Amino acid sequence: MARVQGSAAALAEAGGARRAQLIEMTIDSLAEVGYVESTLTRIGRRAGVSAGLVAHYFADKDGLLEATFRSLVARLGVRMRARMQQVRTPRGRVQAIIDANLGAEEFDRRTGTAWLAFWGQVPHVERLRRVQRVYQRRMLSNLKVALHSLMKAEDAQSLAAMIAAMIDGVWLRAALSNWTDADSESARALLATFVDFRLKPQAPQEPAPAANRARPRSAAADVVVSVNPATGQELARLPAAGPAEVDAAVARALEAQRAWAARTGTERGRVLRRAADLLRAHNERLAVLETRDTGKPIQETRAVDVASGADCFEYYAGLAAGIAGEYLDLGREAFGYTRREPLGVVAGIGAWNYPLQIACWKSAPALACGNAMIFKPAELTPLTAVELQKLLLEAGLPEGLFQVVQGFADTGRLLTRHAQIRKISLTGEVGTGKAVMADAASTLKAVTLELGGKSPLIVFDDADLENAVSGAMLGNFYSAGEVCSNGTRVFVQRKLRARFLQRLQQRVHAMRIGDPMRDDTQVGALISAEHLDKVMGYIARGRAEGARVLTGGTRVVDGDLANGNFVAPTVFTDCHDDMGIVREEIFGPVMSVLSFDTEDEVIERANATPFGLAAGVFTRELTRAHRVIARLEAGTCWINHYNVTPIELPFGGVKLSGLGRENGRAAIEHYTQLKSVYVAMSDVASPY
Ligand code: NDP
Repeated sequence: MARVQGSAAALAEAGGARRAQLIEMTIDSLAEVGYVESTLTRIGRRAGVSAGLVAHYFADKDGLLEATFRSLVARLGVRMRARMQQVRTPRGRVQAIIDANLGAEEFDRRTGTAWLAFWGQVPHVERLRRVQRVYQRRMLSNLKVALHSLMKAEDAQSLAAMIAAMIDGVWLRAALSNWTDADSESARALLATFVDFRLKPQAPQEPAPAANRARPRSAAADVVVSVNPATGQELARLPAAGPAEVDAAVARALEAQRAWAARTGTERGRVLRRAADLLRAHNERLAVLETRDTGKPIQETRAVDVASGADCFEYYAGLAAGIAGEYLDLGREAFGYTRREPLGVVAGIGAWNYPLQIACWKSAPALACGNAMIFKPAELTPLTAVELQKLLLEAGLPEGLFQVVQGFADTGRLLTRHAQIRKISLTGEVGTGKAVMADAASTLKAVTLELGGKSPLIVFDDADLENAVSGAMLGNFYSAGEVCSNGTRVFVQRKLRARFLQRLQQRVHAMRIGDPMRDDTQVGALISAEHLDKVMGYIARGRAEGARVLTGGTRVVDGDLANGNFVAPTVFTDCHDDMGIVREEIFGPVMSVLSFDTEDEVIERANATPFGLAAGVFTRELTRAHRVIARLEAGTCWINHYNVTPIELPFGGVKLSGLGRENGRAAIEHYTQLKSVYVAMSDVASPY
C-alpha cells in the first residue's frame, strides 16, 4: 500500500514539474511570437514533447494560457506577501503593493511581454477575464486595507482605485514603449510621489510618517519638533525661544562676556582645548544623535562631523593666546599699536546639513576671541547644539558664554535685530543671507554669511581618472549631496568624457543607499519630505529639459525606506549651461556632467554663475591647475581633490555665496574689532 502511495506522489510530482515546464515554455513563446502564434504544437516542440501530451495536461490552448496567466498572477501574489511581511506601517504596506506590482520582475522583457499578451486577450477570452478580475480585486482590496487606517473608508476606496489604475497605466505605458518610457524604479518612484501627495492633506485619523508631515512653523513661541528623516519617527520636542527668552539669553551673555574677555588668551584656550577632548571622547554618542537628526550615514558622522568640530576647538585653543594687535613706529615722538578686541555678544545661526560642525565652526573662534555666543540651530536639526552646550560647561566654560536658543526664522530675526548683539554669523541660503544682512543693517552689525553655491569641478583630459571620479562623487554625493560647496557642475574635457562617464556610472551605481544607522550605508536620507519633493522636482525638470539620466533619478522606497526621504545618487549627462538643474542649487544628490574643449572656454562657463563658493580642478599639469584656479571666481578651491575642509584653511564664498570667512586665522578678524592707540612720547604741540 505504502509503495503504491509513494509512486502516486512521485507521479503527481512529475506531472507538476511537467506542467511548470510547459508554463515556462509558454511564457517564452508569448514573449517571442505572441499570443496567436503560441500553439500547442509550437510549445510542445519547445519542451521536446508532443502536442498531444500538452493537451493531456491543459486540454487545449485556452487551458494552457489560462494556467500560465494564473501562474504569473500567483507569482506576483507571493512577491507581494513577502514584501508586506517586511513592513510595519500602513504607508509601507501601500508601498509594498506598488513595489510588487511594479517590481523589476514585472519590467523584465520576457515576463512583461507575456503579461502584455494576456492583457490583449482579456476582452475576448472569458476564462482570462475571470483571472484578471480576481487579480484586480485582490490588488484593490489590499490597497483599501492598507489605506483604511489613514483615511475615511470612502476616501480609501477611491484612492485605492486611483493607485490601482495608475499601477496598470504606468506599467502599460512602459510595456507599449518597449520598456523605454519607464523602468521599475522610476515607475515606483512616480507612484510613491503620487501617494505621498494624496496622503499629505488628508491623514487626520492616523498620521502619515512624521517625515512626510509638514512641520510646525512661524510663531516664535512655538515648539521645534525633531524628526528622524530616515524613519519619520519623532525624536524630540523643544520649546522655541520668543522675545523674552532671547532678551534673557542676551543679558546672561553680556554679563558673562565681560569676565571672559578679561581672561588671558591662554586661559581661554585651555577651556577650548578641554572641549575638543570632550567632543572626541563623546564622538560615538554625538555621531549617533547627529545621524538620527539629519539622516546622514553613521559612517560620515562618526568620521567627520564631531571630529571636525573637535579639530576646530583644538585649533582655536592654540590660536587664542596669539591673538594680538601690532606695534607701529610713528617716529621719535610717538608710537602706535592696535588691540584686537572681542566684539561682545555675537550670534550664530545654523543650517541643517552639518548642525554640530556649524555650531563648532562658529563658537570656537568666537569664544577664543573673548566673545559670548548665542546659537540658533536650524529648526530641523536642533539636537546636537544642545549637547555642545553641555560639553562646553563640562569643559569649564562659564555659564552664559555659549547658549542655544531653539526656534524658527522668527527667533533668528530676534537675534539679527537685537541691539546688543554685535555680529551675526549665518550659514544658510542666499535669500536668508540677504534678509539677515538687511535686518542687521538696522543696528549696523557685522555679518559673516556662508551661503549656497553651484560650484564647478573641472576635469582636464590628463587628469587621473580614478581620482577625478572620486572627487566628483565626493563633491556630489557625500551627505546625500546636502553640502553647500558641492561641485555640481562637472565639466569634463571632451577626450576623457566617455571613459569618465563609464567609470562614474559603475561606481555611482554601486553606492549603498539605506538605513543611515548601518555601518555600510553610504547614502542616507534627505532632511525632510519638503526637501525630497524639491530634489525630485529638479530631477523631473532635468528630464523635461532634455538631460539624460545616466544613473539614479529615482526616489528609493524599498521596504521601510518608504518611510524616509531617500533619493538614488543621480547623474545627468547631455546637460547645457542654461538648464535649471545646471544653474540652480539643488542641495541633493544630483550631478550634472558637461563637456568642454578649451581652458578659456571652461573658465568662462565655470564663472558664468551668480554664486562663487567653491571650485575644483583635476589635472596632472600643475602650472595649468594654478593658472585656472587663479581665474576662477570662487572663495574656496581644490586642486586634485574636492570638498576637504581642514580647519587651518579659511572657508567661504564670493559673489552671492557669501561674505567673510570661517576657519583659519581669517576667522579671528571676523570675531574681533581693532582698536588703534596713539601713544605720545613728547609734549603736545598746540597751535592754541
Ligand atoms: P536657510 O537659509 O533656510 O536657514 C538657515 C538658518 O537661518 C536656519 O536656522 C533658519 O531658521 C534661519 N533663518 C531663516 N530665515 C531667517 C531670517 N529671516 N532671519 C534669521 N534667521 C533666519 O538654510 P537651510 O537651513 O535650508 O540650509 C541650506 C542652505 O544652507 C543651502 O543654501 C546651503 O548652500 C547653505 N549652506 C551654506 C554653507 C556654507 O558654508 N556656505 C554650509 C551649509 C549650508 P529655520 O531653520 O527655522 O528656518
